[in-house]
Amino acid sequence: MIAKHFSGLTGQGGVALGIGDDAALINTSPNQQLVVASDTLVEGVHFPSTASGKQIATRALCVNLSDMAAMGAQPRWFTLALTLPKKKANSLWLADFSAGIAEIAQQFDIALVGGDTTSGPLTVSITMLGEAPAGKSLQRAGAGVGDTVFVTGTLGDGAAGLKSISSINSINSDSERLLHRFYAPRPQVEIGLRLRGIASACIDISDGLIADLGHICQSSGVAASIYQEQLPVAADVKKLAPDHFINWALFGGDDYQLCFTVGADKLATVEQWISRAELDASKIGIIQASSDSNNLVTVLDQDNNPIAINKQGYDHFG
Ligand SMILES: [Mg+2]
Repeated sequence: MIAKHFSGLTGQGGVALGIGDDAALINTSPNQQLVVASDTLVEGVHFPSTASGKQIATRALCVNLSDMAAMGAQPRWFTLALTLPKKKANSLWLADFSAGIAEIAQQFDIALVGGDTTSGPLTVSITMLGEAPAGKSLQRAGAGVGDTVFVTGTLGDGAAGLKSISSINSINSDSERLLHRFYAPRPQVEIGLRLRGIASACIDISDGLIADLGHICQSSGVAASIYQEQLPVAADVKKLAPDHFINWALFGGDDYQLCFTVGADKLATVEQWISRAELDASKIGIIQASSDSNNLVTVLDQDNNPIAINKQGYDHFG
């Protein structure tokens, strides 16, 4: 839809990177680029109607900050467009919502500089502005054959958190950690900054590892194999779904971890950071030449045989 209806509509003066990555890059000076991303959250699609104002606010800011992390950008400013139904346009709800905005904005030292408010179904739309030195940001394109694939943190937390709070599902969990991981997924901004000049490609995991690593492969003109045994999954997620935590790790979106690739020349640096516990990341696979554009990411079992994967076990709020 975007490629068909929204690409190439306009002139591209000053645009260093346009539609199609986690954020756009705008040349603001010879040495500096503005990094721009927008994300919208809609009640019933991205959060349940039971979510509090504060939970909605923190989630909205965190997912936008995650796109800055994916670009290796320093987030600086944001605008907020808030559409509110009449029943929530009261000072109690708004105080809770604005407390969530303040909490995350202070943590990441970013400033709210404008926006819009209107009446209608509950929707939060944020445009995040960041900065990066020209030519230093991370992009989806750039992964080369032989590069190693890494992910930060653990996978499947977002899907597990979503299941835990979803009223349409019978799985129950009292895990505070998983609820927090869903409503306030920690954007990996510091890691993104550290990976400048190190990672050959990077994306944040919003749609699931298979889909998002697939975006790196597509943009870079390569394919990837990942080793199921090496996927980092937290103990409470495994316990919650012993049968299908791997599906959550592969397809569950909402993790907001970074998936990145590293070339042979920088591999020792990254492995040293990991062994010194300076970087929370796991090696999960390898980049290969692409032969089948319909199958960019292959999952391998412990004997290196491809596993048939399917997307069951993940859904949004009905
Ligand atoms: Mg993204």
